[in-house]
Amino acid sequence: MTFYYPFNETQKKDLTAKYSEYLDNTIFVHCNRINGVHMFYECPFCFKVGGNIKTTQFKKNGEKYKTVKPNHHFHGSGFQNHNRDESRSSHCSNRKMVVMVVDDDTIRETSDTEQLNLLNKYHSR
Ligand SMILES: [Zn+2]
Repeated sequence: MTFYYPFNETQKKDLTAKYSEYLDNTIFVHCNRINGVHMFYECPFCFKVGGNIKTTQFKKNGEKYKTVKPNHHFHGSGFQNHNRDESRSSHCSNRKMVVMVVDDDTIRETSDTEQLNLLNKYHSR
């Protein structure tokens, strides 16, 4: 289990308790933004270097790539904006379970009303 975000002690305690059976295989990340369709997190395991995705931010000689940028993965948000944690399987090679935490610091790209409208539209299809 690893926290890839400076979660507060209460968050850590709650997450550790909730996912106690899966800790060996779980990483905890912060959902940095969420909208009607997707929720995003910065991957601790892969990085953008130029146009490529790499599993390290360091060159063979140990220097950090000058153009390294974070890489974000996204999962469906279920049209819901509220604070919560959601577990999904990883989208990259490490095969860990990813728990994304949506909290007050997560950027909402759509309003609660817009989310609700999307949810209603989805259910009336
Ligand atoms: Zn990744």
